Amino acid sequence: MIINLLSDTVTKPTQGMLEAMCKAEVGDDVFNADPTVNELQEKIAKLFGKEDALFFPSGTMANQVAIKLHTQPGEQIICDKWAHVYNFEGGGPAFNSGVSCKLIDGDRGMFTAELVLENISNRKDIHQAITTLITIENTANKAGGACWDINEIKNISSVCKENDLSFHLDGARLFNALVAKNETPKQYGDLFDTISICLSKGLGCPVGSLLLGTKAHIQKALRYRKLLGGGMRQIGYLAAAGLYALDYHVERLEEDHRNAIKIAAVLEKATYIKKVEKVETNIIIFYTNNTIDDTNFVKILADEDVLITGMGQGKLRMVFHINITDLMIEKLVVILGDLKFK
Ligand SMILES: *Cc1c(COP(=O)(O)O)cnc(C)c1O
Repeated sequence: MIINLLSDTVTKPTQGMLEAMCKAEVGDDVFNADPTVNELQEKIAKLFGKEDALFFPSGTMANQVAIKLHTQPGEQIICDKWAHVYNFEGGGPAFNSGVSCKLIDGDRGMFTAELVLENISNRKDIHQAITTLITIENTANKAGGACWDINEIKNISSVCKENDLSFHLDGARLFNALVAKNETPKQYGDLFDTISICLSKGLGCPVGSLLLGTKAHIQKALRYRKLLGGGMRQIGYLAAAGLYALDYHVERLEEDHRNAIKIAAVLEKATYIKKVEKVETNIIIFYTNNTIDDTNFVKILADEDVLITGMGQGKLRMVFHINITDLMIEKLVVILGDLKFK
């Protein structure tokens, strides 16, 4: 039994999801003839109170198309220094949209409306790149699945409206935040121009992300997706997984959060642990003390069939997901409790 806590992207479809996929009615989506993907797009748009949505092969492509929708080359976007769009999308903002990123020195991947105001460029000054887009991430990945305070998001949304800026949400793990904070999709739909959501993370689908926005946004996004090589054919098989996940895999995210909290409590008591960051959703970030270094710790756990990520600089990560069973959690509690170092 391998306990794979590397990421919530390592999941395999559940039996129910596989059956839904096999039964999907499909067609060629490049000709807009796949009924299942259309159903998924309509369903998610309605859920968030947005006009339209579009299926993407990855969250990266959905975010990058969103940036392209809201900007012109030479302009500037504002995001946190830890943002996925800046750090982990291959330099996409520069490559795909020709924009620069103004990085905010936020707190655990999150920042205030006041900091946004301080960082917007002065449009009257011809020396400065024009700010056109603010993008935030919820949950904040690099911060260990931290959740934004929705009141701060409202404040930033107002700043965007007052300053003629677009507002994009990288919601790769938005459903984790919604479940953890007891918030609704509509609350988020109201605050952002566009939202990207990953089906392939906590929701347990093999592939897929969605971009939500106005009809005009999605019309343009369809063209950019094709341009990037993301026009796909019988994707109803994948969309069926998404539809299934929205029905059956959202509320259960609570379980992943509970498991993360339970294991974090075990780590906190362990003599070899220096610090465990606050757990808000399905991710634990922690550090070992000098009884064992982080790389060794990863190896020792791997010998016990427990896979975790070393993120460098002593930072370690465990991610909980749908394929982690109660039995695995029990076993993990025992393994972590039994580890002894001099
Ligand atoms: C995973 C992730 C993405 C998208 O990643 P893909 O692997 O391209 O689907 C975007 N933003 C965040 C915060 C993520 O965690």
